[in-house]
Amino acid sequence: MKFESRFVDALPGDPSTDSRPHLVWKAMYSLVAPTPVRAPSLLAYSIPLANEIGIDPRWIESSEGVEVLAGNRLVEGMKPYAMCYGGHQFGNWAGQLGDGRAINLGEWIDNAGQSWTWQLKGSGPTPYSRFADGRAVLRSSLREYLCSESMHALGVPTTRALSLVASGESVVRDMFYDGNAKHEPGAIVCRVAPSFIRFGNFEIFAARQDTENLRALADYTMANHFPHLGTPSPETYEAWFREVCIRTAAMVCDWMRVGFVHGVMNTDNMSILGLTIDYGPYGWIDGFDTDWTPNTTDFEMHRYAFGNQPQIAQWNLVQLANALFPLFEQTEPLQRGLDTFVSEIANSYLSMQLAKLGLPDDRKSSGRNVVEALENCWRLTEIDMTIFYRQLARIPETWYTSTASSETSLVHEFWDHVGPAFYDSIEPDAPGLRPLWDWVLQYRLGVRESTTDYRSRAESMNRVNPKYVLRNYLAQQAIDRAEQGDLKPLHELTSLLQNPYEEQPDQEAKFYAKRPEWARHKPGCSTLSCSS
Ligand code: AMP
Ligand code: MG
Repeated sequence: MKFESRFVDALPGDPSTDSRPHLVWKAMYSLVAPTPVRAPSLLAYSIPLANEIGIDPRWIESSEGVEVLAGNRLVEGMKPYAMCYGGHQFGNWAGQLGDGRAINLGEWIDNAGQSWTWQLKGSGPTPYSRFADGRAVLRSSLREYLCSESMHALGVPTTRALSLVASGESVVRDMFYDGNAKHEPGAIVCRVAPSFIRFGNFEIFAARQDTENLRALADYTMANHFPHLGTPSPETYEAWFREVCIRTAAMVCDWMRVGFVHGVMNTDNMSILGLTIDYGPYGWIDGFDTDWTPNTTDFEMHRYAFGNQPQIAQWNLVQLANALFPLFEQTEPLQRGLDTFVSEIANSYLSMQLAKLGLPDDRKSSGRNVVEALENCWRLTEIDMTIFYRQLARIPETWYTSTASSETSLVHEFWDHVGPAFYDSIEPDAPGLRPLWDWVLQYRLGVRESTTDYRSRAESMNRVNPKYVLRNYLAQQAIDRAEQGDLKPLHELTSLLQNPYEEQPDQEAKFYAKRPEWARHKPGCSTLSCSS
């Protein structure tokens, strides 16, 4: 095993070696080693990721592997460091934040030449820990581990998770900030990504009028992570910002497609590579609700609610544009990038919704009307997003083609298939559902206009509509059992979510199901705090 330290070797670091919290000026990072833990044990690791980056699973399972993944040992070439960044939190500039409990170990180069930074989260204090302990609890680490690998399997750009290691130490957390602090088991996740650079890494230099380092970081990012754009120049800076806008639009569109709510879209949690990063109080949509957020800190504002995510991504890109302004010294190129975001998200959002419904991607067709009409129907009654879309593809071809059926019998037949997605036990004839039935008939006509054959339409719908997602209560069940030492649910979910679009008929009864009623308001299942 040999690592590289490209980021550290290329860029200026903190001259101070004091590991106590301090402000770090004119530097991109501080060298700091992970704090060893007492009794590390490997709880889980990602075989798909290990295979992808060429790490032998036997190494991960070896005592050396576990020690490295726990932060107790370094291997050749590692120069561990915490990154310096700032950020806008809930709309306000927060100043210096930085990796308060994450430590980058170094870059692993795979056989294809791709570099992967390994980062331990929960590995002890750094100069950016401020008043906190640098540690992470098992519940949040398990959530990050499971969700990042499941997002990858869903085809959503994301940082990855190689391993989940129990530290053998306890961590004190006040989960609901109500004075009830308790000891919880600690854990460490080894996150892996081409880079963990965030919008906030640029913002901190702009806020401090340190244009020299701003430019150095931009040039480093372009050379190492956007090499196809060519050497830095006004034109390539513009192309770079534009690409960040496009990637961010694609990422958020994917979140909306699968029903993911990030929960804390602060600019320090926005990856410059357009990867989903920093899994905290995230959640998955059960009943479709654009106003839903799992994050208890956001219950007043709903700033980061499901339906706001595209708009917030845009707001965050505006902050990035402001930060990058000194490199451009004119607003037009940045404005063009932001305009690209707006048109990209509008286009890809509509295409995505058409694809979910199995309607042709033709803006002039009635498809747009069908999509818009559905948006008004979600409010009529609580409808499970995942099951609704998946069941649509199970409606038989004859429902579309028959000419003899009355509207009532069409609606009843639709109900036979899609009814399982409804949370309330209401009759299909309930008067309040009238707009939904209008929609059903409109949708049927839209599909009839399509020239795609029935089978390939259903198949392509099933490629964009996952059958299995990491429902909040499933994650919580895996946590409850893992805290008691039983890892079976964690492993079962891991394997289920590796193939979220596959039918997996033997898993259907257990996992292709609506959120149970007991989980509706249960902490961890529907409400999550930032305390992790
Ligand atoms: P987050 O809300 O997870 O994005 O974290 C915001 C900031 O708080 C980042 O700078 C984190 O590194 C820092 N932070 C969160 N939890 C801890 C902790 N337990 N110890 C030290 N820093 C933390
Ligand atoms: Mg963060």
